[in-house]
Amino acid sequence: MKRFLGLIAFPLLICNPAQKALAQKHPFSWPNGKKMAISLSFDDARISNVEGGTALLDEYDVKATFYLVPGSAKKRLEGWKKAVAKGHEMGNHSINHACSGNFVWARGNPLENYTLEKMREELLETNRQIKEMLGVTPTTYAYPCGQTFIGRGKNTQSFVPLVSDLFLAGRGWLDEAPVDPAYCDMAQLTGMEMDGKNFEQILNTINDAKKGGQWLVLAGHETATSGPQTTRLDVLRRLCEYAKDPANGIWIAPVGEVAAYVKAARDTINIPEMVGSNSANEIILSANKGKGIGPKIQYMPDWKAFGWFTSDDRVEWDVEVNKAGKYEIQLDWSVDDKEAGKPFTLEASGIKFDGKVEKTGSWETFRKKTIGQIQLTPGKQKVVFRPNAKFKEGALLDLRAIKLVLAK
Ligand SMILES: [Zn+2]
Repeated sequence: MKRFLGLIAFPLLICNPAQKALAQKHPFSWPNGKKMAISLSFDDARISNVEGGTALLDEYDVKATFYLVPGSAKKRLEGWKKAVAKGHEMGNHSINHACSGNFVWARGNPLENYTLEKMREELLETNRQIKEMLGVTPTTYAYPCGQTFIGRGKNTQSFVPLVSDLFLAGRGWLDEAPVDPAYCDMAQLTGMEMDGKNFEQILNTINDAKKGGQWLVLAGHETATSGPQTTRLDVLRRLCEYAKDPANGIWIAPVGEVAAYVKAARDTINIPEMVGSNSANEIILSANKGKGIGPKIQYMPDWKAFGWFTSDDRVEWDVEVNKAGKYEIQLDWSVDDKEAGKPFTLEASGIKFDGKVEKTGSWETFRKKTIGQIQLTPGKQKVVFRPNAKFKEGALLDLRAIKLVLAK
C-alpha cells in the first residue's frame, strides 16, 4: 500500500533497490548510534570480584554481570549486596556447578548423570537462593564449563530448551565468535574468554566485532593482578576506559540489559525462521518471521507488518505443526476501506482457506478477528498467504500476523 505517513517515518521503505538492499544488510541497530555492544561477565562468585573487581568497574560506572553459585556468594555476602546496590547484574551459574565428569572434580555429580527434572529444580533453587540472599532474581544464566547437555551417548539431551524457558538469556564459554544480535539464539549467547588476555588481544576482538555491529560478551573469573583464570585489573581498567570513550561507539551494559534490548529490537526485524506450536497449541505466524516474496512486498518495521501486497506478492512461513487438527485462523491486519474486499488464500500442505479482506477503517488501524478454520497436517511445511485474484490497482492488505489455534 502507499501511505504518506509510512514514507515520511521510514524513508528506507521507498522502493529504491539500493536502499532496500542496505536495509536488509544492516537490519539491526544499537541504541544512540552505537556501533556495537559489550557485556563483561564474571563467573563463580569469586572473592576477588568483590575485593577489587567491582570497585574498579564502579570507578568507570561500568555495570557487569556476575554469574553466581550461591554457596560461593555466601562467603562475601556484604560485598555482593554492595555490587547489587551499584547496579551490577546477578546471574545464575547453577547450584552445584555441575560439569562433565571428564573434570575429575566434577565426577561426584556429573552432567552425565543428570535428568532434565533435576536440572530444572536446581536452576530454580539457585534463583530462589540468590533472591533470598540479595533480593534480586536472575534473568540470565551462564552454563558452567559452557556445557549444555545432560546424559551420555544416545540418551544425551540438551538443556538449552530449559534455559530458554526459564531465562531471558544463556551464555556459553570459550566460544570463538561474538553474538550476532539479528541472528542469535538468546539461550546460547557466545561467551568469549577475557581471562589471561592483554588489552591488545581483547582490542582485536572488539574491532572485529565492531565491523559486524555485533555483541561481544566477554567472560572471565578472578579479577586480580595475576594468577590463573584471571582477568587482570590493569587490562580491565583499559577496557573500561576504551568502552566508555564516546569516540569508540561502544554500548557497554550487563548481559540482561543488552539481551532485553536485542529481544525487543528483534520483534521489529524481519528474520524468516521456523515457527513451531507453543504449549497452548497455537502457531503464531508473525510477519517478522515470514518471508515476503514478490515484486513489491516489504516488511515495515514501524508496523511489524508486511505491506505493499500486490497481486503477485505473497508471504511464506516455514512451520512445524505438532498436532493434526482443525485450527482457528485469527487474522491481524489493516486495510484502507477503499482497498478492502479483495480475495486471499491461506494454504498449508495443499489445504486452502479462501477469504476476503474485511474493512478495518484505515491502513493505520489494525484489527484482529477469527475468520475461519483450516485443517493442518503434522510435520514441517510451508504456510502461504497470497492474493486469490489478479488486481491491477491498489493493494491487498497490511498483514501483521496469522494466529492458528487448535480448535477444541
Ligand atoms: Zn564456572
